[in-house]
Amino acid sequence: MTTLTPDLVTQALRTVNDPELHKDLVTLEMVKGISIEGNAVTVGIELTTPACPMKDRIRNDVTAAIAAKAASIGAATPIVTVDFTADVRRPNQKIREGGNPLPMVKQVIAVGAGKGGVGKSTISVNLAVALARMGAKVGLLDGDIYGPSLPTLLGLDELGATARGNILMPFEVHGIKAMTIGKLVDPEKALVWRGPMAHGAFKQLATQTDWGALDYLIIDLPPGTGDVPLTLAQLLPVTGAVVVCTPQRVAQDDARRAVRMFEGLGIDVLGVVENMSYFVGDDGKEYDLFGRGGAEMMAQQMGLPFLGSMPIHMALRKNSDAGTPLANWDVPAMGRQLDTMAQALAGQISVASLRSQFVQPTISVR
Ligand code: ADP
Repeated sequence: MTTLTPDLVTQALRTVNDPELHKDLVTLEMVKGISIEGNAVTVGIELTTPACPMKDRIRNDVTAAIAAKAASIGAATPIVTVDFTADVRRPNQKIREGGNPLPMVKQVIAVGAGKGGVGKSTISVNLAVALARMGAKVGLLDGDIYGPSLPTLLGLDELGATARGNILMPFEVHGIKAMTIGKLVDPEKALVWRGPMAHGAFKQLATQTDWGALDYLIIDLPPGTGDVPLTLAQLLPVTGAVVVCTPQRVAQDDARRAVRMFEGLGIDVLGVVENMSYFVGDDGKEYDLFGRGGAEMMAQQMGLPFLGSMPIHMALRKNSDAGTPLANWDVPAMGRQLDTMAQALAGQISVASLRSQFVQPTISVR
């Protein structure tokens, strides 16, 4: 009787596309081992992020493709097991002057907003914690050197900053590593930086923190369009940016400016998050205070991915003030929304990295 062989299974896997990356699993080098014992076929698949929401779909597609291959050669229907692992891939980095100061960090993601108060820091914290909950190694840098809010949002009040030589030890809280200037200077003092000082402070925070190996470093930028994004773009290989926006028309106009700023700096915008999308009352009724869907529409008009929306939740505000972000997952609807947003972001990061890997390098000879 004919049986499947690893070659035949590989042929079958060439017909299965990753649903987000739109290339087959073999070309994407996601197949990590095929073993066949009698009628049992085990395939190892290495995902490009632990935050992949497509596992079930990939498992079903792999099983169906191998079963179809078995049927085509007259073999018995196999019992297929798919073992998933994940390894976040790096983007194909441009060669930079001065090299990459953070070679152990795979993905650098900036979070920006057109103006303050839209929930940029809140979204940064919760995206970081969501990715960590899914198994990724995550760092969070408070790039908002003018008004750092991570000490509050992460509950760092009781913790002291420590350093080894001139290397800062990140705060290890809620499953992530975090650094903020708010724990290094007097938080009551207004942080007034002149341009070069802002550049220096941000650079030190980013590169003199002992991040170790990270899958994702999320950088919470100051609101608006200032010096820090430019420093970031010059300093680190940034995979892309997330723009946080509330639904109102005026907020959209500011967010558009933030998008243009990132584009001007050569940073891809990976997507838009709509925060304070609507309000859910005690009666369970949803109130569209600010015109729900406004930011989504803006994303659509600008041809940008939409990563999800977050309503106004009293619990989110309370947990943010208390510095206990993990408690957001105690509210199941909110936990799901945060997870979906983080998965959408991780998906866009994988797509952006893949895009850069399949770009042919060009050499110009003058
Ligand atoms: P930004 O970083 O854009 O200045 P913050 O993240 O500091 O904004 O958020 C401003 C305030 O709004 C904080 O008190 C935060 O807890 C609250 N907040 C943000 N998003 C929400 C939300 N979806 N529901 C309830 N409160 C929110």
